[in-house]
Amino acid sequence: MNKRLCALIGVLCFMLSCARDITPVTIAKTPLPKNFTATDVKVITHNSDDVACMLFAHNFAQGNVVYYEIIPAFDIKEIAVTFKGKTIPVAKQSWGFRGFFAIAPDEKPGVYIFSVTIGTKKVEIPVEVTKTKFLISTIPMDLGKFSKKEYLESPQVQEFIKVCAEKKQKAFSTQFGNLIRGRAYHPRDVHEVNSQFWSQRIYILRDSTTGKTQKVTRIHRGIDLNGDTGDPVYAMLDGIVVLAEMLFYEGNMIIIHHGNGIFTYYMHLDKLLVASGDKVVAGQLIGTVGSTGMSTGPHLHVSLLVDGVQANPMSIVPLPIR
Ligand SMILES: [Zn+2]
Repeated sequence: MNKRLCALIGVLCFMLSCARDITPVTIAKTPLPKNFTATDVKVITHNSDDVACMLFAHNFAQGNVVYYEIIPAFDIKEIAVTFKGKTIPVAKQSWGFRGFFAIAPDEKPGVYIFSVTIGTKKVEIPVEVTKTKFLISTIPMDLGKFSKKEYLESPQVQEFIKVCAEKKQKAFSTQFGNLIRGRAYHPRDVHEVNSQFWSQRIYILRDSTTGKTQKVTRIHRGIDLNGDTGDPVYAMLDGIVVLAEMLFYEGNMIIIHHGNGIFTYYMHLDKLLVASGDKVVAGQLIGTVGSTGMSTGPHLHVSLLVDGVQANPMSIVPLPIR
């Protein structure tokens, strides 16, 4: 191919890649639906001559995400932050530093240390983690073909499950620095919970060859929000789409990386309105509610992963992120 043709193809590819950016973007009218009431935020503060620290959480309890701001009294380029001894990603802002960590749903209630190292100084802030009462459902759920052992164990299904797992693994191993510029949006325009975060649920598994029925207990690693097929689904935070396609259990799924290991993901969608690689802003319309994959009716399943820890996605919605 001659050089001029290569250049022309290059320009065309560039124009096509830019085309996505000029597509009109629909944003949710408000960050919070009218009926979303869990808007109160608890604060832990620390003030000394060297630094001001603030920790915000809907509750300093199991399964909650914590947002922190650190404002040093002097100009400093880098700080180190830990919770329970584990290093937490930090994002530098014009006014100081900020970041997030999550309290694991199975964290033992007790007092843990949030520490900030600024130069030679170290600040230790105790955080009292309380218990969250997660629901235990005792009614076994029949999931249609997903409750049939021979269907799940068929070679084609097993191969597809393997391919899907690899795709998710690739999406969750992407690396970006902080992409969050402001507060979180609710992923729907109404707040109606069908199934709570971290609830324990029982599924039926049938073996038609032996006629035996098994009960399988699973933890719900997200929240199910009510909706009809075609209802809007919004990105909760600014970020980059790292997966947008049909998977086996999840159905049409979108995974957004918000930087520093913070992911939100959306399952069982009817339509996918974004593609992998797209930049999205908080509140942007990304898809529509559906019932694809392992689902018994139209709803949105949304999950939040913070640096490898699963947290209630609703716990990030009221936080005063700036
Ligand atoms: Zn769900």
